[in-house]
Amino acid sequence: MMKIALIAHDRKKEEIVNFAVAYEHVLKPYQLYATGTTGARIMESTSLSVHRFMSGPLGGDQQIGALVAQNELDLLIFLRDPLMAQPHEPDIIALLRLCDVQGIPVATNVATAELLVKCLERGDFAWRELVHKYKPGIEE
Ligand code: PGA
Repeated sequence: MMKIALIAHDRKKEEIVNFAVAYEHVLKPYQLYATGTTGARIMESTSLSVHRFMSGPLGGDQQIGALVAQNELDLLIFLRDPLMAQPHEPDIIALLRLCDVQGIPVATNVATAELLVKCLERGDFAWRELVHKYKPGIEE
């Protein structure tokens, strides 16, 4: 099953909740992950079930990064705050870098997030199923 991660910085939390409400029907079939507070906020407002990692500043980005490093994650929606410095900036950069290493589709603002979710709905990410099928086991 495709795995999707959602993260939003504090001033983007409302935006990601609205996004999750609007696209709940698209996101529903997938395995969803989020950083702690983002996941809690999404679950408060939708019927989505989200696996919550640590809060971002406490290592949640790195936990999601670990999935990416193993090429396990299929899509990342990461609504960053472009106007506020974050204490965990190095973790944010590291997560986005790993997505580029693996070629994982990433949205860092809601306009791109909507485009990606529409692609997801249309089945444009079916190629990720092939990645999972032919990916060497992590023990290899
Ligand atoms: P949070 O983490 O969802 O726990 O707030 C995201 C962040 O702010 O980095």
